[in-house]
Amino acid sequence: MPPPRRASGSPRAERPAARVTRTSARSVQSAIPPPASASRGKSSSARKPGASFAARVVRWQKALGRHDLPWQNTHDAYRIWLSEIMLQQTQVTTVAPYYSRFLAAFPDVGALAAAGEDRVLEHWSGLGYYRRAHHLHAAAKAVVARHGGIFPTDVDALAALPGIGRSTAAAIAVFSAGARAAILDGNVKRVLARHRGIDGYPGAPAVERALWDAADGLLPARDVRAYTQGMMDLGATVCTRTAPRCDACPVARDCVARREGRIAELPSPRPRKVLPHRTVRVLVLERAGMILLEKRPAAGIWGGLWSLPEVDVDADVVAQCRTRFSAAVAAGETLPSIEHGFTHYRLTIRPQRIAVRTWPPRAEAPGRLWLTRDDALAAALPAPIRKLLRSL
Ligand code: SF4
Repeated sequence: MPPPRRASGSPRAERPAARVTRTSARSVQSAIPPPASASRGKSSSARKPGASFAARVVRWQKALGRHDLPWQNTHDAYRIWLSEIMLQQTQVTTVAPYYSRFLAAFPDVGALAAAGEDRVLEHWSGLGYYRRAHHLHAAAKAVVARHGGIFPTDVDALAALPGIGRSTAAAIAVFSAGARAAILDGNVKRVLARHRGIDGYPGAPAVERALWDAADGLLPARDVRAYTQGMMDLGATVCTRTAPRCDACPVARDCVARREGRIAELPSPRPRKVLPHRTVRVLVLERAGMILLEKRPAAGIWGGLWSLPEVDVDADVVAQCRTRFSAAVAAGETLPSIEHGFTHYRLTIRPQRIAVRTWPPRAEAPGRLWLTRDDALAAALPAPIRKLLRSL
């Protein structure tokens, strides 16, 4: 039986990367253990002095790691890939129901490749980071076109697919085929930054290189599945972002951050920068108990999702509706604003109810739909728009 995979805890991300200090470079050099082969076979306990880092992680994972998540106990690369993509930047508890529903709708890569984009987005709706869904769909099509519908398990072939970075490719190859490849997701970055005492923001290129060097140097010659799962579990359940449980940690005895009292400062946070802020008005156009949805352009935020018509926050909404839809409307109540954060800016959404008096046939268009509120909630909507419609 294959090992379990993701434990609960922090969402993961593969990010581009900034700066590594001389101290951190020294820390990395001095902390890299001897090759796994040098110490293999010497330990009988995860905590026994002399056991390699990897041996301690493997033993701990087998005894105390998680074994009960929906994507565990499979070698199916499609299922593993799906869970890895869903778990990027998203919590395990959020992903679990989406994962099951998605698999029920698209049981294999061929079914996903053959599906329409709207259907894929519908099943992704609410998970956020919609580029992942577009990449998922594109990757499924590429697997059918390039690999005859057989999901690859080779790291290079995986990394050539849309939306699959180095760490994700390694995780899929490890769990599906037992490949010997290092992962470096957000949880693993935190464990290594602390254990090896690596300073600097992990998204910075030089820091990320140091972390990859550490990850590669620690990889054992065997038991890579259990080791990889162990690193995931360790980051998610023991070496957590706040309040890590060092007393329960199998690698505590040589942890640099613990020894030097620097756990709270490692990994270094992202350098602070003030995010730009944008405000838009969205129109809740209502006619005979139905609401107008518009499909967003494929490029840009919420690409391809259904949403409410958006106008400039200072626009005259009645004039906008006349110009855009040739419709006669009456402006109604302004609803409470919704704040939404993207990685690169903050968005304030000001919703306004609009009563439609006349709606000419020429205003109908392929990218516009009149739906009841309940039907609209079943469509692929951005999370803040879904929240708004639920509140109506
Ligand atoms: S000893 Fe504490 S800080 Fe160090 S790796 Fe373990 S849990 Fe993390």
